[in-house]
Amino acid sequence: MSRTDLEHRESETLASYAMRSAESAGRCHEEAQAVYRTCYQRDRDRIIHCKAFRRLEYKTQVFLNHEGDHYRTRLTHTIEVAQISRTISRALGLNEDLTEAIALVHDVGHTPFGHSGEDALRELMADHGGFEHNRHGLRVVDLLERQYPDFPGLNLTYEVRESIAKHHTRWDEPSAEGFRDGPPLLEAQAVEVADSIAYDNHDLQDGMETGILDCTQLREVALWREAERAARERYGDLPESQLQKQAVRYLIDRFVTNVVECSRAQIEGHHIAAWRDAIQQGTNVIRFGEELEPAKTALEDFLHDVLYRDFRVVRATNAARRFVQSIFEAYVDDPRQLPPQQQRWAEEAGLHRAVCDYVAGMTDRYAQDRYVQLFHPYQRF
Ligand code: MG
Repeated sequence: MSRTDLEHRESETLASYAMRSAESAGRCHEEAQAVYRTCYQRDRDRIIHCKAFRRLEYKTQVFLNHEGDHYRTRLTHTIEVAQISRTISRALGLNEDLTEAIALVHDVGHTPFGHSGEDALRELMADHGGFEHNRHGLRVVDLLERQYPDFPGLNLTYEVRESIAKHHTRWDEPSAEGFRDGPPLLEAQAVEVADSIAYDNHDLQDGMETGILDCTQLREVALWREAERAARERYGDLPESQLQKQAVRYLIDRFVTNVVECSRAQIEGHHIAAWRDAIQQGTNVIRFGEELEPAKTALEDFLHDVLYRDFRVVRATNAARRFVQSIFEAYVDDPRQLPPQQQRWAEEAGLHRAVCDYVAGMTDRYAQDRYVQLFHPYQRF
């Protein structure tokens, strides 16, 4: 099937409010279209082949990357978000290729060591233009990736770039300067809810795996009690480790089903017939039902109080923040320690921004190696 066949298939099969690749606002640098792929399939492929995407494998999600092989990393989190958002997108008749591209790219602006790395860079860059991971993600795909001789960055479509800038979670409020006002496209909204479904559930699971969370504490949370009850009704008495897995499985399904049903009603209720109608609304229409929202917030508050404030997590978070800060300051104090490519970049982008780009792009283990070279070069392990 050629690209034009694929575009025709989109116009025949997608819902009227889906974004169609033939209607894309295009790329910053003009290029010939691919023969066998739509513009969003091409975006997805460019993302998978870029360095920032591969580095997600060695970046921390919540639990430090080196602590165990079963915990989520940024890469496995990203794959889970892609899976969940594609399910939602397909069920609503949205453009699944666009959704997948947005999901795969949504975390490429993240620093090493999860949010503690970001907190450190935000403080260090406060007087030098600031740091926010969505804005940085856009910088990665627009400027920092060097894959093609014709242009810097990946030259992604307007729709994927806008979705990076507007990606919003309970924990961050990006400013999407330079893009249209209003909510993001429905495909990007599907990724936002999928992101929160993925992290709520995998943080629960990883939290139990570390032993920081257990079922007894979790029974304070109404949604968890409901999930355990459903697992017991289906399977009878289960050993605790099986019960946990089945409860998490139930919750993911419960969230996804709720989003699909509630969003369908929202789309109908607001008479959304074209993608333009969706971005003219005051708020997102792909969302959880009003009856589920407070229960989900209560689960997140519990995770926030018990998991993210556990002394082991706080200790690791503070150590990571000091770590990123020390590396950054060492390079700014004497930029001659930077690799030649980064020194050249500092002349172009300014010293602080270039060091910030370098440090933000590091994986956890690359940052650890740089730390040893900078501060403990004589230490033998
Ligand atoms: Mg995410």
